[in-house]
Amino acid sequence: MSAGRYAPSPTGELHLGNLRTAVLAWLFARSSGRDFLLRIEDLDQSRVRPGYAEQQAGDLAALGITFDGEPLVQSTRRDRYDEALAGLTADTFECFCTRREIAEAASAPHRTPGRYPGTCRELTEAERAERRKTRSPAIRLRGGATETAVDLLHGELVGMVDDVVLRRNDGGAAYNLAVVVDDAHSEVDQVVRGDDLLDATPAQARLTRLLGAPVPTYAHVPLAVNAEGVRLAKRDGAVTLSRLAERGVDAAAALTMIAASLALAEPGEPVTIMDLSARFDVARLPREPWVITGRPG
Ligand code: GLU
Repeated sequence: MSAGRYAPSPTGELHLGNLRTAVLAWLFARSSGRDFLLRIEDLDQSRVRPGYAEQQAGDLAALGITFDGEPLVQSTRRDRYDEALAGLTADTFECFCTRREIAEAASAPHRTPGRYPGTCRELTEAERAERRKTRSPAIRLRGGATETAVDLLHGELVGMVDDVVLRRNDGGAAYNLAVVVDDAHSEVDQVVRGDDLLDATPAQARLTRLLGAPVPTYAHVPLAVNAEGVRLAKRDGAVTLSRLAERGVDAAAALTMIAASLALAEPGEPVTIMDLSARFDVARLPREPWVITGRPG
């Protein structure tokens, strides 16, 4: 099988930027003859809110986005993540750092901000045994060296693999592990998502190889931003389908806004997602963020 997917976290309503990424993921998949799958990324229970998974699915359907098969729900797959991790012991290590320790160590001179500073990478078994007495460890990927992947918009991605967290210290599977295990399980070979995840790609490509699966082709698409150039958020006003509906802008009109932002329709032109599919051309996609202004309240 060959498939693309959209993988939202049910932590709130999808906004126009999220919906645009979903439309693009659907267009990339369908125009290349792939299946299109929905995955519900609900592992972080502190952020998940009841009802949003259903509302998100309804909003995607209102735009005409169709999915194959049943959604894959991450919270039902914890055993699969544990199994995958159990096969990776040679490529992982226990990490006892608190967030604060990492922030402090990472801000020291000659460190790359945002990257794990390596504190626990070479602990001896005795040191680990000692630390386990006071704190349960997270599990990190043993990163280092570069990894490459192909991106349909950015070309060849080459990046250093960070020691990303695979299991949190509360025992839960972390995003980077779940996303790779699930894409491999679902035979996803095309990953279209926001370009805020570009930096996560080398580690995910490495992990995919370690799990013995083929690395997908990626397309990291530009995000939507507000008038200040900051990534769009729900507080930016009428940027969700429900808020737009209150102002008389229905899902069809929202699809037109998204299509116009992708240069696939004229402003105000009625279109269906099938029309967009016929017009879709990767080479002509805008590479800049979508600036959404003038929709306060
Ligand atoms: N769940 C992630 C998000 O909502 C997407 C992860 C992915 O596409 O790899 O940003």
